[in-house]
Amino acid sequence: MSNMYLAYVSDEVFIIDPSVSPDSLKEDISAVSAILITHGHYDHIKYAEEWHQKYPEAPVYMSSADSDLIGDPRANASFMDGILQPFDFPYENPADTLVFASVSIKVIPTPGHTMGSVCYMFSEDGTDYLFTGDTVFAGSVGRTDMPGGSYELLKRSVAVLSTFPAETRIFPGHGPESTIGDENRYNPFFN
Ligand SMILES: [Zn+2]
Repeated sequence: MSNMYLAYVSDEVFIIDPSVSPDSLKEDISAVSAILITHGHYDHIKYAEEWHQKYPEAPVYMSSADSDLIGDPRANASFMDGILQPFDFPYENPADTLVFASVSIKVIPTPGHTMGSVCYMFSEDGTDYLFTGDTVFAGSVGRTDMPGGSYELLKRSVAVLSTFPAETRIFPGHGPESTIGDENRYNPFFN
């Protein structure tokens, strides 16, 4: 199971990595501005179709560099959960910046864990919030031995993220949150 985030920014709601069924949420969300997918692995897209059906007005964003992954049960890693599940949902390849009514979101390409891995950055009240998918975890990075993975590219992506302001808060696809400053200090893959 990967982390799914609900980001409440200004008066908008964004879903990041729809790994939990909309039916299992206790809170009622009146409108979703967008569904943001960090990469095409099974555990991050598991309920993309259901969320899309519930909020059809919300665009789904995923890098088209991961388009080959989602429909292929081996490439989307669902086999790791003992199943072979292809996925099919409509999505758009995100531009560098996604502009919504009250929020702009930066899309940072971070290939390595998969070719289409991206990080999404929100800024509010002077704080940056970076959703890193499986590119960076607290104290570690995502594996690169799956289809489309490249350790060389991952190292380059991490090098880019390491230059972000130390107080940038990061929210990984698995495990607890961290900051760029803490990762620069404690994450062995950051230097
Ligand atoms: Zn992954």
